[in-house]
Formats: sequence, C-alpha cells, structure tokens
Amino acid sequence: VESKEIFKIVVVGHVDHGKSTVIGRLLYDTKSLPEGAIEKVKRISKETGKPFEYAYLLDAFEEEQKQGITIDTTQIQFHTKKRDYVIIDAPGHVEFLKNMISGAANAEAALLVIDANEGVREQSKRHGYILSLLGIKKVCVLINKMDLIDYSEEKFLDVKSDMDIFLKSINVFPQKYIPVSAFHGENIALRSEKMPWYKGDTVLDALDIFEKDKEITDKPLRLPIQDVYKFDNRRIIAGRIESGVLNVGDEIVIYPSKRTSKIKSIEYWQEKDRTTKAEAGMSVGITLFDEFFYKRGEFITGKSDEAPLVGDTFKANIFWMSENRLTVNKRYKLKLVTQETECEIAAINKVIDASTLFSNDDAKEVNTNEVAEVVIKTKDKICFDEFRNNHVTGRFVIVDGYDISGGGIINGLEILDAANK
Ligand code: GDP
Repeated sequence: VESKEIFKIVVVGHVDHGKSTVIGRLLYDTKSLPEGAIEKVKRISKETGKPFEYAYLLDAFEEEQKQGITIDTTQIQFHTKKRDYVIIDAPGHVEFLKNMISGAANAEAALLVIDANEGVREQSKRHGYILSLLGIKKVCVLINKMDLIDYSEEKFLDVKSDMDIFLKSINVFPQKYIPVSAFHGENIALRSEKMPWYKGDTVLDALDIFEKDKEITDKPLRLPIQDVYKFDNRRIIAGRIESGVLNVGDEIVIYPSKRTSKIKSIEYWQEKDRTTKAEAGMSVGITLFDEFFYKRGEFITGKSDEAPLVGDTFKANIFWMSENRLTVNKRYKLKLVTQETECEIAAINKVIDASTLFSNDDAKEVNTNEVAEVVIKTKDKICFDEFRNNHVTGRFVIVDGYDISGGGIINGLEILDAANK
C-alpha cells in the first residue's frame, strides 16, 4: 500500500471569525467526517432549538478519535485526491498558541481567517505575527462571512488591503486572499457562483497547490538523543531524526562532547525491522561501534556535516504568553528538542506589541502577548542551530513553574564558544 503524502496545516485568526466553521466545512466537503456526525449535530440543534454550527462537528470528530487509538486527539484529518491533510489542534483550545510556539504543532502552511464584516482585528494581526516568527511562509488569507456583506468585491478588497499592509510589514507574503463563506460553503471546496468577480482558487485548490518542503533531508544530520536503552548488552540510542539522513557505516560526531563513532545498525523501534538507511521525520533506534557515555539531549550529527552551535548565550526572538511578565535575572527552565536546562534572560533589547507593532527599546520586562528580542543565558552549554538553518533545533520554549510561558527562535550565538572554532 502506497501511503499518501501528509501535509500539516494550522487555521488561525481572531475569535469568532470562523476558524472552526472553515475546518468543519473542509471536513464536510471532502467527506472526511465520521459517519453520522452531521446527522447527529443536525438532530441536536433541532432538539435544542439552537442553530446548526459546523464547530460542533469538531467535537464529534474528537470524541470519535478518543475512542480509537490515536496518538494525538487534537489532530483532525481530511483528504483530497492529492494528499492527506492534518489540521493541527483546534483553534478554540487554550493550548493552541502554546502548541504552535512550542513546535508541537509544526505546521507547513496556514489559513488565516478574517471576518469580512469585522475586518482585521487584534488576533488577526497577532496570529500573523506568530506565523512570521515561526517562519511559516505558505499562507492563505480567507476573508470569511462574505454572505454578510452581500459578497461585495469592494469590501473584500478593503479588508485584503488592510491585512496585506500589516503582513508585508512583518515579512509575511500570503500566496492568496480568498473570499469565502465557510458557513455556506462558498469557495471552500466549490467555486462560488455568488462571487463571479473572483477568478482565483478555492481554498482546497489553493492548499493542493502548496508543495511540501523537501529540503529537510538535504540538511545536516540532527538526531537529538531522546533516550539510551540497554538491551542484551547493546546500548540502543533512541530519537527522532529532525533533519538529514543516516546510513549504517556513517561516521558521526556527538555534540557537545565532540566524540566520534560510526553507526553500526539502525533499527525501527516498534517493528524491529532493521534497515540501512533512515531520514528526517523517522523515529529510530541506532547502535554505534563505540560505547562511550552518551545521554539524552546530545545531538548526533554527521562527521562531514556542518556542526551545530554549542554555547550558553544566544540571541533570540521570543513570544511571551504567560500572565506573569518576563523579567531579567529570573530563573526559568528552557527546553530545546530533548535538552532541558535552567536559563535566565540576560538582556531585553527590544519589545514589540505583536498586534500594534509598537516597539520599545528600553523595556525592562515583557508582558503577555508581546514579542521581544532578548539574550538568553543557559546554565549548561546546549547544542542548537540558528532558526533560519533549522526550524526544529533552532527553537525552544521557556517554562516557568510547570507551564510553558513563552517560546522563541534562535538568531545566533551571542558569544562564540571556543569549541566551535
Ligand atoms: P472561531 O471562533 O474562529 O472558530 O469561529 P466559529 O467557526 O465558531 O464561528 C463563529 C460564528 O460565526 C458561528 O456562529 C458561525 O456559525 C459563524 N460563521 C462562521 N462562518 C460564517 C459564514 O461564512 N457566514 C456567516 N453568516 N456566519 C459564519
């Protein structure tokens, strides 16, 4: 059986602008809903006298998933002829932004939904900013609820222009702006007859046109160690290959220790299926020819690959979500792929309000929903890459107590560590 390509997307936008309705409609139009879901929602809305809502379909979908054996209950799927789509997380979830920032929701493309009647609002901009921060370059803006403005081209162009000015100023260049009515299914899967003035793609066509990033396997090998298991006297290193490829016999270097060895075997953890080659996206178990001490958090990379950065001070852009403001010289926990260490903010260089773009060069703290350019100092040396070189090993989250309070991307080492030269 040939498995179809999987493409992960995220749906963002201001509350009530129609994100859930867009998702519900995509599921409905592509016949991806669980059996009986639509009838059930129709029946309930009739019984309770409340209007039918596509958003309720998502609840039905999640319920069904919880009964099955799925790894992540918040992943919603639909299918087109071209490929399988996974919509990461549900927009109403409290954890939504956290998942996006932490990379748990590593989306390849985004749909940004704006209510045509309300126009660009605070969260439309803030979510746009997060797409920019996370380097999500494949973006479609859906101007929704066109039915409420009589499918007017003029109003569509107004909202489009407002959003375009904002997005351009933060280096987001959407491929498309699509006028839709998610509720009525106009321009979602089917071309709308209500808007003959619009000659562009439907949402589904626009998504299918996006090509997957392929270059992740061409990048330097990064296999952050998740665990080391002892098994019949063998030590098996388990982890997920975040970029690059790995072959039996390859010479590798482990950072930060810089020890070298060779790959003896690659095994798939569950299937016990030995192989000689594995690549980005796969979780593997490997054995090495040399059995020195290696531990969780260390990076395995190829000997001829460009080395990761190693250090304890780096420049970063962070997005702060916690209600407790971020301050300098307070201790936080920093998590970067499988590494975990204490950290503090050594300097706040600039703070920006993500929706107004107002920027302050001598702020002493970072408040909820603000973006900041900071210098972070970690207690232990860690391995990482600049975000522009690697989207996984170049990003981190900051934990205050037990909760993710913020997250960010690394712009570079602040003080070059001697080990890198
Ligand atoms: P979310 O908070 O962004 O997920 O928004 P929802 O999808 O829950 O939608 C908010 C409200 O707007 C609901 O009552 C929807 O039925 C309504 N809505 C969504 N899309 C449309 C549309 O295209 N036209 C109209 N008239 N209402 C819509």
